[in-house]
Amino acid sequence: MARIVITGGAGFLGSHISDALLARGDEVVAIDNLITGDTANIEHLFGHDGFTFVNADVSNYLWVPGELDAVMHFASPASPIDYLEMPIQTLKVGSLGTHNSLGLAKAKEAKFFLASTSEVYGDPLVHPQTEDYWGNVNPVGPRGVYDEAKRFAEAMTMAYHRYHGVDTRIVRIFNTYGPRMRPNDGRVVSNFIVQALSGQPITIYGDGSQTRSFTYVADEVRGFLALLDSNVTTPTNIGNTNEFTVSELAEMVTEMVDSGSEVTYHDLPVDDPTQRKPDITKATRELGWVPEIQLREGLEHTIAYFRTIVGNR
Ligand code: UDP
Repeated sequence: MARIVITGGAGFLGSHISDALLARGDEVVAIDNLITGDTANIEHLFGHDGFTFVNADVSNYLWVPGELDAVMHFASPASPIDYLEMPIQTLKVGSLGTHNSLGLAKAKEAKFFLASTSEVYGDPLVHPQTEDYWGNVNPVGPRGVYDEAKRFAEAMTMAYHRYHGVDTRIVRIFNTYGPRMRPNDGRVVSNFIVQALSGQPITIYGDGSQTRSFTYVADEVRGFLALLDSNVTTPTNIGNTNEFTVSELAEMVTEMVDSGSEVTYHDLPVDDPTQRKPDITKATRELGWVPEIQLREGLEHTIAYFRTIVGNR
């Protein structure tokens, strides 16, 4: 049994991690400033003995009384439209927020777990992406606020590991989807499902030939816990290796929802990665982790969730 801080604890991933940790008997202190997180994601946990929620911005200052076994830093806007609307907050939580979270972990002699991202690979020139690939990132483009903040966060984490001996974990997360994504989140899976359910046009950016490898949230969170419990201190990809074009995703969603939505084409966002797929040799070898839920099954769960949300709007 461990006592674990999760920054971004009211977010999509943070709330699912809270569920998983509490289910195995750990105690959770969830911290969130609710700029993209939502207490609706965690209200089912408010009566749980092992759960505490703190409304705070971890970019400013971070202190938690009592002993801690781990600090998991998940706070950040994570959708391209969010980090384009909140570029400074995104840079601050990736840099200052990571520094504060590392400081807390160091002071408590706790493990530190960084939520990093496949975006550290930028628009990758190596495919699939292995952890030793350094990436192809535009530091001054609009996505740079997220990509470079996460790259800084990784550098800071490794510095605390090397110079302060903090026990660190770094996960590189690939396009994760599932229940509790916000309907207006802006990411492709939630956009397409909400559009298909409400009969609005499906918005494909570019020609739809760009690829992503979509990971169902339960698989992703299982990977986080395996990494947390392991001794792997260097970055580890956790993502599904089945790669789809955005057009293929649009077809699958419209077919599954049985939607009459038309497909419309829009400008491709600046620096939108052309292709993305994890090499998960390391996760499989070191953690015994493989994804178990493929896209169609994951979409079934996600569509069922959005039916309740969209139906209530
Ligand atoms: N995308 C799209 N339509 C949308 C939202 C996104 O075609 O309504 C595309 C986007 O341009 C990108 C891919 O889907 O190529 C995945 O976008 P998302 O924002 O989900 O995540 P990213 O991997 O870009 O961070």
